[in-house]
Amino acid sequence: MTKKQKKMLARVLVTALMMILLAILPISGIPQFVLYLFAYIIIGYDILLKAFRGILNGRVFDENFLMAIATVGAFALAIYEQSGEYSEAIAVMLFYQIGELFQSYAVGKSRRSISELMDIRPDYANIEADGKLTQVSPDEVEIGSVIIVQPGEKIPIDGVIEDGISTLNTSALTGESLPRDVHTGDEVISGCVNMTGVLRIKTTKAFGESTVSKILDLVENASSRKSKSEDFISKFARIYTPAVCGSALALAIIPSIIRLIVGLPAEFGDWIYRALTFLVISCPCALVVSIPLSFFAGIGGASKEGILIKGSNYLETLSETKYIVFDKTGTLTEGSFEVNAIHHGTIDNSRLIELAALAESASSHPISKSLQHAYGKELDWSRVSDITEISGEGVTATVDGHSVAVGNGKLMRRIGTEYILCHSVGTIIHVAVDGNYCGHIVISDVIKPNSKEAIKSLRQSGIEKTIMLSGDSKSVAESVGNELGIDEVHGELMPDDKVAKVEELLKSKQNGKLAFVGDGINDAPVLSRADIGIAMGAMGSDAAIEAADVVLMDDDPLKISKAIRISKKCLRIVKENIVFAIGVKLICLILGALGMASMWLAIFADVGVMVLAVLNAIRALFVKKL
Ligand code: ADP
Ligand code: MG
Repeated sequence: MTKKQKKMLARVLVTALMMILLAILPISGIPQFVLYLFAYIIIGYDILLKAFRGILNGRVFDENFLMAIATVGAFALAIYEQSGEYSEAIAVMLFYQIGELFQSYAVGKSRRSISELMDIRPDYANIEADGKLTQVSPDEVEIGSVIIVQPGEKIPIDGVIEDGISTLNTSALTGESLPRDVHTGDEVISGCVNMTGVLRIKTTKAFGESTVSKILDLVENASSRKSKSEDFISKFARIYTPAVCGSALALAIIPSIIRLIVGLPAEFGDWIYRALTFLVISCPCALVVSIPLSFFAGIGGASKEGILIKGSNYLETLSETKYIVFDKTGTLTEGSFEVNAIHHGTIDNSRLIELAALAESASSHPISKSLQHAYGKELDWSRVSDITEISGEGVTATVDGHSVAVGNGKLMRRIGTEYILCHSVGTIIHVAVDGNYCGHIVISDVIKPNSKEAIKSLRQSGIEKTIMLSGDSKSVAESVGNELGIDEVHGELMPDDKVAKVEELLKSKQNGKLAFVGDGINDAPVLSRADIGIAMGAMGSDAAIEAADVVLMDDDPLKISKAIRISKKCLRIVKENIVFAIGVKLICLILGALGMASMWLAIFADVGVMVLAVLNAIRALFVKKL
């Protein structure tokens, strides 16, 4: 409990005690009035002040105002009727405050369990100076410096291992507790915990640009993007509260006047009491509190599973998704190609690979990574110049003074080189040197172990259609699509064909939303064009984190259906709360207007609904088993 909450608890206890004593002890008249007033002020002074300030600032109609009017009214009524029934006004305040206390405790608690995620924030980085380790703030470390990470410490900044072997725990980032072995030359991202060996890491980014900082920013800002449900609630409250106050006023005056006109006793006190009860009942706090809390909890629960959702609005869209469009390479397949064969080589095979790897030296495409891997040696950048990457086709560059082109048939046609069609199933990378065809490299990719399961589980989660778009050859695309059981497969698409295809699908779909899942490499435009873009985080690929609305930290396609189930659970909770809260309010309002509800019932209903709604909202945090 915070200090503020403790203080409130003390006020609640003192007031409750005073009420009990006042009910038992034979005190009446002026002393009774003074003691009750005292109790009322102890428990309600802050509400009265807030209501007063609200009026001064022109924001009259909020729940503080409702509570203040209702309780001051009840107090005044007790004086006017000389009934000594002051306890009601105090009880209303008391229960209202208990509700508020509970709510601030619950919200604080769920915030804390989300900030456990924030535990990935590193406090320091170790740098070596004069043979000694010194701790500095991670912001102060410049790009290219060497930091030392000892076993048990968090990696504070993204970088490459210069020296050392260790195992990393990535669970804070991915929700998966599978350890990852790393050694010299591997890229590592911040937020992982180094478990076994000492690592010397050469930083490749500043702290602010590192994966941890990006994730933290993202999660912290997620709740500022409002969903339609949240918008609905704030609009609702804006109309609702004044409407309720107006009705209460009407209830207080009109029936009595009508009674006077028809010659009955006016019973002003009775009607005013009903109006005040009406005000207490109408307090909309259950909705105002529980809906943002549900979204917040849903986003928090998802991030613990390695699914980063950038805002409540995306959670909402995700729950309505019916169509999923996939990219192939890096999304459903590993994106780490193996060289299977080299055909029609007119130069030495190792020379062919060397030229290809050098030409690809600047590309971040998975194909480039695997050619560099097949080459196996350190790339000498000084041998390469004039690199141009043509998205969806390949690269051209000057290597050792020769112009080299590496890519698919489209690239060969572009540079006007005749090429030989290959009949092997696989991705075919043609190589041309100085415009002469030098053969092709057949590479193949493997399907991710979870891809098939992922498609099945999406179908079970209510996805109507799965579509795969690929820049790879039709035969490769189709064989992958068939193996995974994807409904529709399109191959040989350029990056802008993918955008066009997604636009076509967006137009032709009948209902629901369309999600695009990609790896962020040359599909950023599609990610942002779809109703919702889901990116494989590639353990921190910048392009993906920026362009997408949802980021899967561990590249596991199974997480897509999990994200959808999380969103559905969250939205179901939001709807339950809306229906439940508005339903109970309506019933109580009718009872109140008919004079069948006392202020006691009203406050119990209000606080009770709020507590139940908040408890229900917190359920959105628990998504492990979904
Ligand atoms: P996908 O849709 O499967 O992710 P891309 O759009 O990334 O495919 O690439 C489509 C095709 O373009 C690849 O299959 C390959 O033939 C060619 N290509 C793209 N980038 C490169 C590159 N850097 N080197 C060689 N070929 C490339
Ligand atoms: Mg791709």
